[in-house]
Amino acid sequence: MSTCVTYISLNLDLDMSRFSSGIDLADREGKSRKRSLNVSNQTTTMPESYPMNGGDSTYSYTKNSYFQKTAINIAKSMIDEAIVDYLDIKEFSSESLNNNTFCIADLGCSVGPNTFNSMQNIIEAVQQKYQSQLGQIPDFQIFFNDHVSNDFNTLFSSLPPETERRYFAAGVPGSFHDRLFPNSSLHFVHSSYAIHWLSKLPEELLDENSPAWNRGRIQYCKAYAAQFAKDTARFLDARAKEIMVGGMLVLIMPSIPNNVPHSMFDLLGSSFMDLAKEELISEAQVDSFNLPLYAASPKEMTELINQNGFFSIVRMELNNLFSCIDSQTTGKSCTMHLRAALEGIIVKHFGSKVIDEVFHRLYEKTQEFSERLESSYKEGTQLVLVLKRKLK
Ligand code: SAH
Repeated sequence: MSTCVTYISLNLDLDMSRFSSGIDLADREGKSRKRSLNVSNQTTTMPESYPMNGGDSTYSYTKNSYFQKTAINIAKSMIDEAIVDYLDIKEFSSESLNNNTFCIADLGCSVGPNTFNSMQNIIEAVQQKYQSQLGQIPDFQIFFNDHVSNDFNTLFSSLPPETERRYFAAGVPGSFHDRLFPNSSLHFVHSSYAIHWLSKLPEELLDENSPAWNRGRIQYCKAYAAQFAKDTARFLDARAKEIMVGGMLVLIMPSIPNNVPHSMFDLLGSSFMDLAKEELISEAQVDSFNLPLYAASPKEMTELINQNGFFSIVRMELNNLFSCIDSQTTGKSCTMHLRAALEGIIVKHFGSKVIDEVFHRLYEKTQEFSERLESSYKEGTQLVLVLKRKLK
């Protein structure tokens, strides 16, 4: 089997000081710069799950998941090709398709609609392969997974009607960092824009005396990388047991080359600091707020996959998501998207009174820094990985 690994090497030179309206940015190593602060002991314990906004209101995930939709479209042709080239359906047909059922799981599916598009795309590609190679098509079983707190009601009520849907649907609640399925029971696993959510905040971040304390920033330090590595090792261990030999694992995730700042999050941090200066929230509240997200580099992912040892990388690409998004709407849709994803966490920490103001400031900053944001995103921000379960 050949292995095609595509790296795009990135060299981003962002002047982050321009993004900081009075905010003192700690570096990615977690060494906070000195600033006199009256830091209280308001450390926060993040909840284990961070559901997207449910329902279908203005700020719902359903109405604000355009970026992920674009991401899925970009990944589609790569996944189609990988299914044609690498999926071992002959092996499945003799050994594992006893009830003629092809089992797919979408991990971190949220409330739709993106999960339905992804599943439809995969089914069409697999079906075509079965038709052309074996002259018959299997039944499809789809398992929609997310945290227990996900709005599964919205997910189920927006499933495509049975007349259009060529699969049986089931919901699987629970964290994908643990086992979710029986041994060797899945043929194909997909997960888009989900594994960058950390299972918890690294403990060091909750200790204000630790060098990792995120003074004036809302994420990023070495501790995040270490937590992501632990989480991904658990994720891959569980999937290695659940996916049968010859099966596939597709991961679509935000990515970043080494040492590149995360500008949207820095703008969000800077919006919080503006509110702190106006005493609408306290600086200590900003310091004790952390976003449990981590965008890994292609190199980090390759190392983690190799350490696990049960998967070969059949395709890996770093894409420029923003080349496909109308630049006029980038700032607005970035802001709406972040709100749909992060409102729950922000309200939990800061209360609901400031939420409109936070995102209003963020939107203004995206306008102010639009050129810089666009040029930074051009370098590539989305990683698509197609892995195949091998014998170790
Ligand atoms: N895949 C969808 C949704 C992405 S939003 C899309 O591409 O549009 C990310 C989702 O991952 C959220 O619904 C969140 O609850 C879920 N998620 C995050 N961590 C998870 C975990 N450990 N286990 C299961 N789901 C998780």
